[in-house]
Amino acid sequence: MTALPEQFDEATCRQPEFRPRRPDFGERYVPTLWESGIPHEPLSEVSRRWDRAVVLCRHCPVLNLCAQYADGLIERGLKVDGVIAGVRPELPKVQMSCRGCGVPLYPRQSTIRPAGCKREYASATCRSCWDANHNGRSHGARPRAP
Ligand code: SF4
Ligand SMILES: [Zn+2]
Repeated sequence: MTALPEQFDEATCRQPEFRPRRPDFGERYVPTLWESGIPHEPLSEVSRRWDRAVVLCRHCPVLNLCAQYADGLIERGLKVDGVIAGVRPELPKVQMSCRGCGVPLYPRQSTIRPAGCKREYASATCRSCWDANHNGRSHGARPRAP
């Protein structure tokens, strides 16, 4: 990763009060306002952090520079994770419930794991229900020819 221009020293997200804090022993990691969701962090909490980050970005002294930087990342096909230059990503939608057990499911590609939800394993089904209905056959196994 290339070093950021030194103007970024002025960035709001780089000021001591907003920098990530190393957790003490036994403490959970506390994400910064800008970071993507961490496992088991409720979506409502991620959303609340990001809203605050967006407001802070709007008043950031290097907002324009940051927006150019973000555009450069996107042009290079790099995925921007979390809030950058006042733009917040979409939260994954909890789309459906498992057809087997009814637990809410989040999309497979989501990097955020909403609390109390399971990942969709196959068409609106969680992994355990899929396994239970397919006698442990793995997802994608082809039926044998008669
Ligand atoms: S605009 Fe936002 S993400 Fe960019 S440097 Fe400023 S505070 Fe950080
Ligand atoms: Zn299920």
